[in-house]
This record gives sequence, C-alpha cells and structure tokens, in this order.
Amino acid sequence: MKKNKELGAGDDIDSRCLKCKDVTNHTIVAMVADKVVKVQCNVCHSLHNYRPVQGGVKALVRRNVIKRDQPAKEVKTAAGSKSEKRFHEMIEGRDQRAAIPYAMNVAFQTDDLVDHPVFGIGLVVKTISPNKMEVVFKEASKILICAPKT
Ligand SMILES: [Zn+2]
Repeated sequence: MKKNKELGAGDDIDSRCLKCKDVTNHTIVAMVADKVVKVQCNVCHSLHNYRPVQGGVKALVRRNVIKRDQPAKEVKTAAGSKSEKRFHEMIEGRDQRAAIPYAMNVAFQTDDLVDHPVFGIGLVVKTISPNKMEVVFKEASKILICAPKT
C-alpha cells in the first residue's frame, strides 16, 4: 500500500465498506492535509468516510482472542464447582467443627470427618488396609496413613 502522503483525490485505496461489509477498492474523493477523509466504493459506488483497513483487522483479531479465551475459563470453573458441589453434598449436615484433626497415629473409620492441616476438611470414604484410608477433600481424594483400629 502506498503511503498517505503520496495519495491524492482520484487515487485508489483499500477501505472497509459498510454496504459491501468487506474491504473493497475505493477511490479517494476528499483529503484533509495528508489524510484520506472521503472515499467512494468501487464496488457499490457509495460515498462514505474512509475506514482504515488495518484498524478493522486488529479489532477483529482482538475480538477473536476474547472469544477463544472465554469458553476455556467457563469449562474450568464448571469443573471446579462440580467437584466442590459433590464434596459439599457428601458432608452435608455434618458438623465440621467435630472433624478429627488428622495425625498418622490416630485411628479413623469410614464416614469420619478429618481436619487435615493442608487439605482441609475431608471425609473418610474407604479403609484400604488397616493403616491406610481414602479421604475425599474439596480438591481431590487422597490416600492417607492412619493408625490401625484397636
Ligand atoms: Zn461498497
């Protein structure tokens, strides 16, 4: 594309045309200093203000980026709240203040509430071996060591 300074009325220039809804070849009709002001579309012959092509393309790209980012965020949030919702359903009606502080030398049994210093409140769902249990926390389920039942 030629520089604006070399352009004058009657020259051809690419511009966006609202009627054609596309970038089309235009003829420059009016200029102020070295800026193209009015153009005529060579396709539909409509007279309108000059709309730079580059700005339009940039705006389009930016819009596409936002569109691409948003669904990914929504999916992430939906998945996070789903496991959180399941966890809240599991411990619904349970008194979290009654949770047993987690320690390796404490005996737990299925359905006990555990208060873990790192993972937070959890629910014992399974005893895997006498000293291993599966505990479901808000984020994920973990295998923890516990004292054998007496
Ligand atoms: Zn047009």
